[in-house]
Amino acid sequence: MSYTTAEYESARRELERRRNTAEREREKRHSEVAAKVPEILETEKEMSTAGLAVVKAVSLGEDAVRYVRELEKINLEAQKKREKLLVENGFPADYLKVKYTCEKCGDKGFVNGRMCECHKAILRSLAYEKLCGKFPLDKCTFENFSLSYYPDTGSGITPRTRMESVYNFCKNYAEDFNSHSPSILMSGETGLGKTHLSLAIAGEVIKKGKGVIYASAQNLLNRLENEKFGRSDKSDTELNLIECDLLILDDLGSEFRTQFTVSAIYNIVNSRLLSSKPTIISTNLTHKEIDSAYTSRIASRILSEYTLLQFDGTDIRQIKTRQY
Ligand SMILES: [Zn+2]
Repeated sequence: MSYTTAEYESARRELERRRNTAEREREKRHSEVAAKVPEILETEKEMSTAGLAVVKAVSLGEDAVRYVRELEKINLEAQKKREKLLVENGFPADYLKVKYTCEKCGDKGFVNGRMCECHKAILRSLAYEKLCGKFPLDKCTFENFSLSYYPDTGSGITPRTRMESVYNFCKNYAEDFNSHSPSILMSGETGLGKTHLSLAIAGEVIKKGKGVIYASAQNLLNRLENEKFGRSDKSDTELNLIECDLLILDDLGSEFRTQFTVSAIYNIVNSRLLSSKPTIISTNLTHKEIDSAYTSRIASRILSEYTLLQFDGTDIRQIKTRQY
């Protein structure tokens, strides 16, 4: 699993925010209790005195073990006294404990030097955020993909049969996704489920804790162009695109093509192939059109190194509209 520096930084800030909130909340509860039950402060004084004494004992190298045990006993008794006072005054016994979002790591993000599950989950959700801005990840799953929209008539391989194998390929791809998974080119006309299946893959891969970027070619290229020409100060898009575990480039060919966009696409496709990082590109363009729109350098990279999935059928959005 690899994330960008910017994502690690956001995750670190999120953990810090959780810790600060938890500690602030604890402070608030503490003031509330101290106002109502001032004796509580006495028990805390006993605890902190015991704590300081432990530090001193250890540093002086006295008969530390015995002494420390003695102090621990004092500390434990003070804690019990505090809990009793809390309960007697109508508070829960653990009212003064800091309530971290993650009990395992206390919102530090690491347990014994290893990244805690909560930390991984934050990184995953950052990847989700990138996608979810506009894309309905929960609406496009493998479960709600229906093959019944694809005609099952005609001679030879029917669209439904073809799409059934496309569907199975995508489902297995998502299940077995790893850093050696192949890149995919999904081609076919508008409304045949390319976006649905690529989002379904994205959703599954994200659940595995991988960093996924999903974007329309147009948005992405606009962003790159703005960064390149200094119209926006964020400049990590290109790095993210090249480094993420899975890049899904939706609707290639819909963007306004310039020399800049063509060379940006080549750079992304090429860099990711060189570092064996899977990419999924969907497009309405035929293979021939890709060749003439993006130079044969790009076309040959894609057509010879990607797994080609041909979508078939009738525009599903039209069928759906007719049904309502
Ligand atoms: Zn944790």
